[in-house]
Amino acid sequence: MFTNLSRRRFLKLAAGLGVVVPFSKKPAMAKTKRKQTAGPALPVILSSRNAEWGRPVNRAGYKILAKGGDVIDAVIASANVVELDPNDDSVGYGGIPNEAGTVQLDACVMHGPTHNCGAVACLEGIKMPSKIARLVMERSDHILMVGSGAQRFAVAHGYQVENLLTEKARLTWLKWKENLSQDDDWLPPKDGIYRDSKGRVHGTINVLGIDSTGNLGGVTTTSGLWFKIPGRVGDSPIIGAGLYVDNEIGAAGATGRGEEVIRTCGSFYTVQMMGQGMTPAQACLAACKKIVAINKRNGVEIGFSDKFIAVNKKGEVGCAAILGSKKKPPLAACRDKNGFREIVGQYLIERK
Ligand code: ASP
Repeated sequence: MFTNLSRRRFLKLAAGLGVVVPFSKKPAMAKTKRKQTAGPALPVILSSRNAEWGRPVNRAGYKILAKGGDVIDAVIASANVVELDPNDDSVGYGGIPNEAGTVQLDACVMHGPTHNCGAVACLEGIKMPSKIARLVMERSDHILMVGSGAQRFAVAHGYQVENLLTEKARLTWLKWKENLSQDDDWLPPKDGIYRDSKGRVHGTINVLGIDSTGNLGGVTTTSGLWFKIPGRVGDSPIIGAGLYVDNEIGAAGATGRGEEVIRTCGSFYTVQMMGQGMTPAQACLAACKKIVAINKRNGVEIGFSDKFIAVNKKGEVGCAAILGSKKKPPLAACRDKNGFREIVGQYLIERK
């Protein structure tokens, strides 16, 4: 009966018909700064940020979950806090542009109960790409839309095309551009100072949520790698890479060097490891180990990092990264029934 009918389409149809669809279905390593109280702490919001960003980000989503709201509404409300903030240079409005000076955004969402998902890549001019990813999931029969097509789709749904390049981001890009080569027609930076110390930076946010009935959802949103080649797509809008949700097991998200996360299906792998019995913290560390092992096999010296965050069906959380230091360990921010806490994860290699 379903040979020509995708599961996603079937679920949409089933939902419309009111059919009930059955779903086939060591000790924690992350230290928490506050003592965990025993027992389920649902609902939970987990984001891939330190406490400074994590507090306002998690607050927005938690408020919705605490009132019994929808898990996708919650994680997107959290992501919007960063997407709209011009001071964050790695997500949404204010993100650092690509090589050509254009801000191109990637995002995806995934809904645990239906296993539906949506994503946008290389989206220009729309401040909250997570909302467009949700529209792709809910208002189209597709999963991934890119570039001008994704923008047209957003405009069709009433979104306005805006300039996402802040002055701060433009000046950062200009400095990089003027530094590129002695052999082009761009003169050195006006202030005479060549490279600023930041170099090329990554940044993204994942927000994972679980409501009080145990339903999971997640979002990942980013402006991607600074000065990327126009058209480059990272892991953030790729389901299974930058985000994965399995309503029976848990959810995971990734930040950092996207190419490594794509080729290891990093978030999918993390969720699978939880499915095999690992705690969220152990599963995140296992995903980091996999990336390191592949690179070591190829003789590559690890000069990059990836970080994973995860939550399981019980609401337990964890994070881990490839690089870190005692002073700057991998962090995530968690808000649950017991309050807010910063999660400190393990790392594999000391950051130089
Ligand atoms: N993972 C993102 C990308 O590769 C960037 C990041 O998280 O820093 O586009």
